[in-house]
Amino acid sequence: MAAALEHLLTTTLTSLPSDLQEVIGLVGKVHLHPEGVPLSVHIVPRVTTDPENLLANGRLLHRGTSEAELAALGVQAHEPETAYVLMRGETAPLSANPRMTFLHELGHYLDHVFYSLSSPYASASYTYPLVVVLAANNSRLITDRKDELSVFISDAQNDDAKKSKYKAQIETDHHNKELFACAYAQWVATRSQDAKTLEELNRLRQNKQWMDRRYWDDDDFEPIGKQFDELKSAMGL
Ligand SMILES: [Zn+2]
Repeated sequence: MAAALEHLLTTTLTSLPSDLQEVIGLVGKVHLHPEGVPLSVHIVPRVTTDPENLLANGRLLHRGTSEAELAALGVQAHEPETAYVLMRGETAPLSANPRMTFLHELGHYLDHVFYSLSSPYASASYTYPLVVVLAANNSRLITDRKDELSVFISDAQNDDAKKSKYKAQIETDHHNKELFACAYAQWVATRSQDAKTLEELNRLRQNKQWMDRRYWDDDDFEPIGKQFDELKSAMGL
């Protein structure tokens, strides 16, 4: 059985910010969700004292998250069989690019909760969404970034701190689960053709900092997007 995202969604907020309301409606136009684990959206403050729990823009918490971690992030009462998308709230409105951030976290949700039968992270365990990840790894964006990284590493040859910073960054960004979440967000943005979401996507693509470039040019993305189209029909969504 598949359902619109609205039916899986709960929140303890009295009302969701309009950007999130709109983007949730958008997802429903692109695909259905397999019925199952509910998703709860929370807006949490940026600052926590624990560096492990610092929230960049958004984050998905899933069934493996400890009570202590949830509490540290401001989720007080939670249901064990619910996944939580946390979005960073500054003063209203939400932080930059809330639509793409939400879609990225939703990509993690699908990956973690639905595309995995035996492991909590499907793309991390090389199971079903691997086709998407393989296409992403073949893209110009990712191959260029890997080349740039080796230049940075050789330039930083005597600077171990710099070197390990680059390595850590690339390992995080090129991890299968991150590639999958970025690809999902871009897929919904391009298939929905929603102007505000595409504006955010373009903003993210224009990032001059190579380490922050995580989204693909249109032609570079298309082979990845096609894999999502196929995943959608294979799953009856
Ligand atoms: Zn992510």
